[in-house]
Amino acid sequence: MSNDLKNKTIITVATTGAWPTKDHNPNIPMTPEEIANDVYECWKAGAAVAHLHMRDDEGKGTMNTEKFAETVKLIKEKCDIVINLTTSGDLNATDETRQAHLKLLKPELASYDCGSMNWMHNALFINHPKFLEDLGYTMQEYGVKPEIEIFDAGMIYNSLYYQKKGVLKGSLHYQFVLGAAGGTAATVENLVYLKGLIPKDSTWSALGIGNGHLPIMLAAIAMGGHVRVGMEDNVYYAKGKLAESNAELVARAARIINEANKEVASPADARRILGLK
Ligand code: ZN
Repeated sequence: MSNDLKNKTIITVATTGAWPTKDHNPNIPMTPEEIANDVYECWKAGAAVAHLHMRDDEGKGTMNTEKFAETVKLIKEKCDIVINLTTSGDLNATDETRQAHLKLLKPELASYDCGSMNWMHNALFINHPKFLEDLGYTMQEYGVKPEIEIFDAGMIYNSLYYQKKGVLKGSLHYQFVLGAAGGTAATVENLVYLKGLIPKDSTWSALGIGNGHLPIMLAAIAMGGHVRVGMEDNVYYAKGKLAESNAELVARAARIINEANKEVASPADARRILGLK
């Protein structure tokens, strides 16, 4: 990586996710228009990547391609933020509907959940080996870079297997998702351990869910990683205080990065750091 990029930290904003509702935080954006306006505010506050989930008209997570298409179009009219689409926006979606939006929209990034797990003590989060192979090849074909989401160490070993097999190509990009019930807890020790398992030429980002949010963000910045903030992972700004907006969470991350004597990566920087076209 060229020297001018080494000191830059990418902020990803995950505005919505699949589950929190306006009952959890009335400021969470749900419709394509709300999400696009929110992403634009986050871009102004320093976010370089937008990780997007869609909701149906009842507010439930959906992989509906029209919703993705409309939201991405509205965002692109406003700013040049890197688009990162979920492939896991509905636990009941089929292998096909989890990929259809990638074929249609060819986003620069999309999530790649590198293993299966018990989800929040009440559901199964299935990422069958057959699906992961299929998804890896779809992403190669459509020029989508996988953001490999890691909930526990076994998922890293899966990614190394897929890299060896050619399902994943080039330098890998990881997102450590810590603090989800059923996965690895959001502790600095766990982050250090997981980061030590990925290939040396990888890039990585991290997030802690709920009250793990700040410790993991601070540790990731100190360790030279990138960070993700937003109401998908955390609807609170501080203990007992709901976030007023996703942009508020982005702005705090940007202040911390600057105070740490680093720079907030622009979307153009993020494209170079992640090797996007
Ligand atoms: Zn997500």
